Amino acid sequence: MNFALTEEQTAIFDMAYGFGQEHIAPHAQTWEKAGMIPKELWPDLAVLGFGALYVSEDMGGTGLSRLDATLVFEALSMACPSVAAFLSIHNMCAKMLESFASDVLKHRVLPDVLAMHTVLSYCLTEPGSGSDAAALKTRADCTNEGYVVNGTKAFISGGGYSDAYVCMVRTGEDGPKGISTLYIEDGTKGLSFGALEDKMGWRSQPTAQVQFDNCKVSAENLVGEEGKGFEYAMAGLDGGRLNIAACSLGAAQMALTNTLTYMGERKAFGRSIDQFQGLQFRLADMEIELQAARTFLRQAAWKLDTGAPDATKFCAMAKKFVTEAGSKVVDQCLQLHGGYGYLADYGIEKLVRDLRVHQILEGTNEIMRMIVARQLLAARWGCPCPVCGWKIDFGNPVPLRPDWALISSCDAIMAQDGNAVIPPHRWWCGWHAAGAAGTGRGNAVIPPHRWWLANPEAISRYAVKTLWYPGHAMRCRP
Ligand SMILES: Cc1cc2nc3c(=O)[nH]c(=O)nc-3n(C[C@H](O)[C@H](O)[C@H](O)COP(=O)(O)OP(=O)(O)OC[C@H]3O[C@@H](n4cnc5c(N)ncnc54)[C@H](O)[C@@H]3O)c2cc1C
Repeated sequence: MNFALTEEQTAIFDMAYGFGQEHIAPHAQTWEKAGMIPKELWPDLAVLGFGALYVSEDMGGTGLSRLDATLVFEALSMACPSVAAFLSIHNMCAKMLESFASDVLKHRVLPDVLAMHTVLSYCLTEPGSGSDAAALKTRADCTNEGYVVNGTKAFISGGGYSDAYVCMVRTGEDGPKGISTLYIEDGTKGLSFGALEDKMGWRSQPTAQVQFDNCKVSAENLVGEEGKGFEYAMAGLDGGRLNIAACSLGAAQMALTNTLTYMGERKAFGRSIDQFQGLQFRLADMEIELQAARTFLRQAAWKLDTGAPDATKFCAMAKKFVTEAGSKVVDQCLQLHGGYGYLADYGIEKLVRDLRVHQILEGTNEIMRMIVARQLLAARWGCPCPVCGWKIDFGNPVPLRPDWALISSCDAIMAQDGNAVIPPHRWWCGWHAAGAAGTGRGNAVIPPHRWWLANPEAISRYAVKTLWYPGHAMRCRP
């Protein structure tokens, strides 16, 4: 096991750090006051390859690993987490386009996306649905002339500022399978924006509602296949969570570094305040937290890069841990600056405000806990069946994918007694074969010793996704 960064990774970090300190940090407060990041910044970042960090080199991207990308976001956040986080959203959308868009769409839009002449926003949240994103209502009706979109997206970073919007819209039934993704360019007729949101932090990037009023979008702008939009939207989230955690880490590290300097200069009771042991202990605690956060984040990124079965769980854990550690550290740094920490001049209060939202977006930290808890509960099924003593074996354990984890209320749950409880709208799909005691109205309760009776094919194709996975049908063995 080797925890050291390679020479190339160190160079990537240094390049991002150098750019951030020269071109972003000196302006971060001005841009915050203006509520706008100058558009000219983005092509300069793209020259360094930061407009397409993990788009493959074949497609003209930089082809970095997720771990490499966290280094970029950690380093840029040392200049301004609001700018760095905005770049993360663009990169998430760019990767979605590379992975799922048709060749025609890719060839049309990707070159400008990679060069950041086209800046992208990600539109999933709506006024009535955030964590429960699959409940979105914005409709796109298919006509002979393409799609007609109606509805509203809320909290969109870059709303009214970006050049194109990667939008999750409903083209079919309720739930995740009725969702598709459309690429909608600024200037499209029927596309408009709400007033700028007045926010606590991330004030340099505009946030607004994105509204569609009979907005006509060419069928060519469908990303991938109809009905797969939710899957696409979730596909980038593990990486997005790592990036947002990296943004917390970099900003908190900068706050700690500046606090160390400040404490050597600030005097109280005839000594510099770094001579008080109580305060030294606080410094030590912050260092420990940030080093732990960094190690955890990089481990999660490595798991994602290597396709580890528990990568999603680790990305969720790292996002929760690092964003909370980051907020705690910047708050402590503000305290150690005394009254000066509360003034804008020292830049610490901005970090306290900027980092707070990292616990809310890319899936709230409650949702992160939900993902982790689900996997813990699912793993518990490895215990022997209480009736016949057979052991349930999932073959290779496969992690919950974020989209599966998010369809919370409609999925099967594992009861304390070892029974699988399947809600009625799920259990029609062949559960009779499994000996389910379902009435068609209430939950179907499947005792563990009957699970093995089910046709594994049926399970892998139809069963509740949070429990079983395609190609990994459950089986019992004596
Ligand atoms: C500054 C900012 C920028 C944003 N940018 C974007 C963007 O660019 N694109 C985009 O699509 N969205 C964006 N968002 C939206 C963001 O992703 C959502 O705010 C977030 O997903 C939470 O959704 P919500 O606000 O509707 O909260 P809700 O889902 O209403 O949650 C409210 C509270 O209930 C908790 N909760 C909900 N469900 C559960 C559960 N099952 N178990 C336990 N607790 C639960 C939540 O954790 C939270 O504490 C942005 C938000 C902000 C503030």
